[in-house]
Amino acid sequence: MNDIPVEQQRAGFIAIVGAPNAGKSTLVNGLVGTKVSIVSPKVQTTRTRVLGIVMAGPAQLVFVDTPGIFQPKRRLERAMVAAAWTGAGDADVVVVMIDASRGLDDDSRGIIEKLKDGGRPLAVALNKVDTMHREKLLVLAAQVNELAPFERIFMISALTGDGVPDLLAWCAEKMPASPWLFPEDQLSDMPDRLLAAEVTREKLFLQLHQELPYACTVETETWEERADGSVRIDQVVYVQRDGQKAIVLGKSGRQIKAVGAAARTELEELLERRVHLFLYVKVRENWLDDRERYRELGLDYDA
Ligand code: GDP
Ligand code: MG
Repeated sequence: MNDIPVEQQRAGFIAIVGAPNAGKSTLVNGLVGTKVSIVSPKVQTTRTRVLGIVMAGPAQLVFVDTPGIFQPKRRLERAMVAAAWTGAGDADVVVVMIDASRGLDDDSRGIIEKLKDGGRPLAVALNKVDTMHREKLLVLAAQVNELAPFERIFMISALTGDGVPDLLAWCAEKMPASPWLFPEDQLSDMPDRLLAAEVTREKLFLQLHQELPYACTVETETWEERADGSVRIDQVVYVQRDGQKAIVLGKSGRQIKAVGAAARTELEELLERRVHLFLYVKVRENWLDDRERYRELGLDYDA
């Protein structure tokens, strides 16, 4: 533990924003050193604002992982994008993340355009450099540099950690004088019940195909601490239609068992104890229009 007098402490929020799939959640998990935000190869995995808290000497860095910013169509998408902008709006520092292998697309250009006159330190992280040739990367960096007065352009791989220490050091430098905002051993603000639901949702994203993950939401119904130190967690996977329920269950329940097994393994690691996980699949046709669901996720229903 660090013993820094309060008058020397610095702290602030660093928003990580960018198009879907840029690698924002991977970066935040890597910085924190454990999973606080779920990751999948599919777009729009992250539905809400997630904090990842990192101590760097006298500075406490509160990274704000945000849903991807894109052109939203449905209510949930609108709420996700609004949450991302709120995350950016409240931050002391903003880092725009770009999937360098995809280059500068309209989503990224639009995001930079909106942020460039915000009056806050602004940097770019060109991510996934592990997949790219250096010359292409330099061309992209030059293009990006034209778009806004970025203080820095980092080239990183959130996956391998390459370049991430430089980004962290820059963020730490930018933190204003402030008493730490969270206890110094806290890693996130997400309650365990919600984290557990997110882990199951990640496995659904990883194991289900096409549009199906987007039809699912997960709720932790009960959380029961057992005398032997283990925990029993009951969760409901909500889908929108009977046909979806059949696929999520799979033949003889095989699919949901596989999801449950993967989620349980990861939860045991994260919670550092034995987990008994019970999953139920139910149809709730209108969960995408259910105010309560949005409130639980900290999303604005009317965004
Ligand atoms: P987000 O939507 O911006 O939060 O992106 P995620 O963190 O969910 O990552 C999307 C996909 O990109 C996942 O399959 C990640 O494993 C992958 N990914 C993230 N960072 C990197 C990276 O630096 N290199 C490579 N090769 N893949 C990455
Ligand atoms: Mg994400």
